[in-house]
Amino acid sequence: MSELNKQLEEFESTLSGEELVPEEVLEEEQHRSWFRRRSKGITTSTAEKKETPDGLWLMCPSCKYTCTVLELRDNLHVCPKCSHHHRIGSDEYFDILFDEKEYTRLFDNIRSKDFLGFTDLKPYYKRLEETWAKTTLNDSMSVAHGKVGGYDLVVSCMDFGFIGGSLGSVMGEKIVRAADYCIEYRIPYLIISKSGGARMMESAFSLMQLPKTLGRLSLLTDHKIPYFSLCTDPTFGGTTASFSMLGDIIMAEPGALIGFAGPRVIKETIKRDLPKGFQRSEFLLEKGFLDFIVDRKELKAKMTLLLMLFKG
Ligand SMILES: [Zn+2]
Repeated sequence: MSELNKQLEEFESTLSGEELVPEEVLEEEQHRSWFRRRSKGITTSTAEKKETPDGLWLMCPSCKYTCTVLELRDNLHVCPKCSHHHRIGSDEYFDILFDEKEYTRLFDNIRSKDFLGFTDLKPYYKRLEETWAKTTLNDSMSVAHGKVGGYDLVVSCMDFGFIGGSLGSVMGEKIVRAADYCIEYRIPYLIISKSGGARMMESAFSLMQLPKTLGRLSLLTDHKIPYFSLCTDPTFGGTTASFSMLGDIIMAEPGALIGFAGPRVIKETIKRDLPKGFQRSEFLLEKGFLDFIVDRKELKAKMTLLLMLFKG
């Protein structure tokens, strides 16, 4: 393999969050590398993936239990055997949360722009065009308004499939507009985080989203509108450093990896072994970072209860 190809693969795996996977899992996965799509050129668009035959078998990365796509989907993409929460996208979360799966999508017309002419291993505009072609997503965050257990809720949900759920200017703008919408119509707000961190191709513009979003979210407090945060696997970098950790209620899915820098970076920096379960939701709950952990199958009921309590 040429040096450039190797670099490209490493870069892509960083974007896809593989660097956030513990070493022992990666080692284990190397034994069945045939199972993964490593080489470039094999790409399936999200739209096509949705048409995956229901009879196709999938293996749980945690307990190796094998079940059909249909069985997993019926179980909200939670392993029926070990409760491993598979990564899902915004469409799936909207379907899980909103009553009758009915909701209105908001601010879908905002798109990223390569205003810096940034080039890493490929130009940013090219990366954007490729991602738009591969997925049905416009950017790494989708916003929707609907009813949850009869109560209005606006949900902003990240998609890891769009450049690693990275926090760029579009995500920042969507959060600000969603917060304004919540203030105007007096509706509670939920952000579901699933991100590797800041979008490096937008450089300082990406970092500027931190004060921009936090300033606007603090207006929700002034208007006495609740803001909930749900951290899912993974919640990293700029998201953890800002809005994901500032909800009136901060929840997480079981076993989610949540942190600022990845475990390998920390391990190399402090030159010490990390405690067992480091950066997992259960560890964070114990250390007081989270209010509670919520199983995906109980998410709707928990959100309904919260909306009822906060309304009262
Ligand atoms: Zn499992």
